[in-house]
Amino acid sequence: MSDPECRDSATYAQSTERPSPGLLSIVIPCYNEEAVIEATHARICSIAPRLGMEMEIIYIDDGSKDNTLEKLKHLASGDARIVVLELSRNFGQQAAMSAGLETAQGDAVVIIDADLQDPPEVILEMIAKWRTGIDVAYGRRKSRDGESVFKLVSASIFYRFFAAMMPYSVPVDTGDFKLCDRAVVDTVCGLPEKRRYLRSLVPWAGFHHAPVDYDRDARTAGETKYSVFNLLSLAADALLLSSDKPVRIIWLLAILFAFIGASGLAVSLTSSTQTQTGVSAIIAVVGLFSAAQTTGIAIIGEYVVRCYREAQGRPPFIIRRKIN
Ligand code: UDP
Ligand code: MG
Repeated sequence: MSDPECRDSATYAQSTERPSPGLLSIVIPCYNEEAVIEATHARICSIAPRLGMEMEIIYIDDGSKDNTLEKLKHLASGDARIVVLELSRNFGQQAAMSAGLETAQGDAVVIIDADLQDPPEVILEMIAKWRTGIDVAYGRRKSRDGESVFKLVSASIFYRFFAAMMPYSVPVDTGDFKLCDRAVVDTVCGLPEKRRYLRSLVPWAGFHHAPVDYDRDARTAGETKYSVFNLLSLAADALLLSSDKPVRIIWLLAILFAFIGASGLAVSLTSSTQTQTGVSAIIAVVGLFSAAQTTGIAIIGEYVVRCYREAQGRPPFIIRRKIN
């Protein structure tokens, strides 16, 4: 955000040349992962020689109640590449990932879950994409092992509904497992909004995105941290933090009520029997009053959306690269 002409934008002078070897940061949010964290660490270390980059691993202990933090401290004591962030309590996966992104120093940053559902070997393909000039290489799930039918169906429906409700393009069948270039991380971390939902913010940032297809494994150990209630609350954040389409749906209701009221009015004015006139007059009054009220709510919604956008303070545009 430098020159006066573009003080409202975020500017990233960037070339597609990638630093060699460069530093890769791997961000891993952890909540009660004592059963799996050592296996995860060993697996990530096993790919380190093939990365072609220096590596730092940032573990975020998100207020675990088990021995995760002790295990992480133990791992860090013997390895200077490891950073452990201990959050003061459980703030949730999105906040934990944000803390990791803000701490990461890398030229590229990978976010990966602690439970080995996302195979670390896929990071090698993500780096290869990044080296060709892609800014976000995101994992796209070809298959998902070890998930219930309910989770598979609800996730599939949600991904598609979410993509349709977003005002910009969002990939489906994609979670948080992705590699982001430094410019993308700086953009997202530079946003003033406090509640970040990365699955919509990273696509919002723009830049060049490309999928890396992979098969998602079952959890190696431990269990999911998401109840149906948690998933619903996350879905609400996903939708309401980035889309104003829900407010626009109120306009559709207003139009529907107005149509019902107008039809009732037309029937009551043209009908021959008293009963028919009475019933359709009631429909007309109820429909038209509902339409008036819904329109009022929709107009207030439009103001709220605009105030909310200003409060979020996202820049109106981001420049990926300046030429000359
Ligand atoms: N996680 C976290 N804080 C939470 C919940 C989860 O840091 O409050 C981490 C968790 O340790 C894991 C990742 O977020 O590394 C994804 O969680 P989980 O595997 O339970 O989600 P699922 O794969 O079942 O959707
Ligand atoms: Mg998982």
